[in-house]
Amino acid sequence: MTNTPTPLNSPDLLVVGAGPAGLAAAIAAAHKGLSVVVTEFRRPSIDKACGEGLLPSAVAALANLGVDPTSVEHAPIRGIRFLDATGPQASAQGLFRSAPGIGIRRTRLHQLLLDRALNLRVRVHWQTAVQAIDSAGTNRPLEVHTTAGVFRPQYLVGADGLHSSVRRLAGLNRGSIGQTRIGIRQHFAATPHTDLVEVYWSPLGQAYVTPISSSELCIAFVYRSRPTTRDHLASFPALRDRLRSATPIGTTLGALTLTRSLHRVHRGNIALVGDASGSVDAITGDGLALCFQQALALADALSSHDLMSYQQAHARCSRLPRVMSHLLLLMDRHPALFSKALRAFSRSPSLFPDLLSLHVGDEPLRLLGSGGLLASLLCLLSN
Ligand SMILES: Cc1cc2nc3c(=O)[nH]c(=O)nc-3n(C[C@H](O)[C@H](O)[C@H](O)COP(=O)(O)OP(=O)(O)OC[C@H]3O[C@@H](n4cnc5c(N)ncnc54)[C@H](O)[C@@H]3O)c2cc1C
Repeated sequence: MTNTPTPLNSPDLLVVGAGPAGLAAAIAAAHKGLSVVVTEFRRPSIDKACGEGLLPSAVAALANLGVDPTSVEHAPIRGIRFLDATGPQASAQGLFRSAPGIGIRRTRLHQLLLDRALNLRVRVHWQTAVQAIDSAGTNRPLEVHTTAGVFRPQYLVGADGLHSSVRRLAGLNRGSIGQTRIGIRQHFAATPHTDLVEVYWSPLGQAYVTPISSSELCIAFVYRSRPTTRDHLASFPALRDRLRSATPIGTTLGALTLTRSLHRVHRGNIALVGDASGSVDAITGDGLALCFQQALALADALSSHDLMSYQQAHARCSRLPRVMSHLLLLMDRHPALFSKALRAFSRSPSLFPDLLSLHVGDEPLRLLGSGGLLASLLCLLSN
């Protein structure tokens, strides 16, 4: 965007938050030629409670950002299996039809994104907090006050997660919040027994198991209410049996996951990306794909000075994940519905693979247009 060097505190773009969304937004914008500065609260390396699974759509968006997660330790993921964690091993599974997904430790993914951003000359200020934004929503130049000084960027992007300060300071908090759940992440040393992500369902919530290398598993436990025990496997007997010889490793981390939808994701020269811009429940596995897709759409909008087009692209890519989040949370709240769904999946073996294809964006129009999938879904919910 700028052909002449900009003063260090007046970049084309200031991004607040160096999580996956912030780094992806910085990469995509720098790739378009914008000068970019990122400010981040914490110090690297940045870890966060996450299931550590990348859907095929996330891997594809990463490729567009010039980031290859297969260049570091990872595990390929071929599909998803749902299992009843309490009863006899009822299950349903589907394979990704177009390309595999990937399991990768959060810290490895963060380092890849950071390396790519630094290669594109993005400047990062660590341990820096935003304190105030002047001129938000007006036509006057932005002034962003941070603990590292005042920045006067042309554009400001809030990528500061679920509890975004930029969202609040820019007056973009209006919207709706759905269910909030509690997520706990634990790594285990174990040789993966499958290349599927396994999601174990219990009346308390889900445990989903993602292979992240040839010798490590990541398990995300997601509960409707605060767990009363630290022995998370106790609520998932089938998984506990499966992991009898696995050893917990590293630090256990917790985080909230919530469903939030905002009326607007931009105002004046300020835009939101990633969880700051609204979120879907962790069970969808869609959070990171959304971060990367939104980052790419945002860079297009910034380079054409048309943030309204970002609002539209954001709505487009969030629509299906929201529907899936709603359906999955419905099954979470009503365990009888989950059991019914498992029975329906075993009666019509193509139903779960079709739903999975719809979820990950493999041929969605063909699947919806066929009528068969919709009819089966209605049948499932009404039986
Ligand atoms: C239990 C759990 C499991 C999940 N599993 C998956 C999964 O398997 N696959 C998937 O795709 N998604 C998953 N998700 C969702 C995914 O983790 C999020 O969607 C993703 O982390 C959002 O990235 P983000 O960059 O928007 O926010 P964050 O990762 O929260 O990053 C925000 C960054 O902003 C910084 N920050 C905050 N405030 C400020 C401030 N004022 N100034 C400067 N910096 C600030 C924070 O320190 C942080 O580094 C899961 C989520 C949870 C909770």
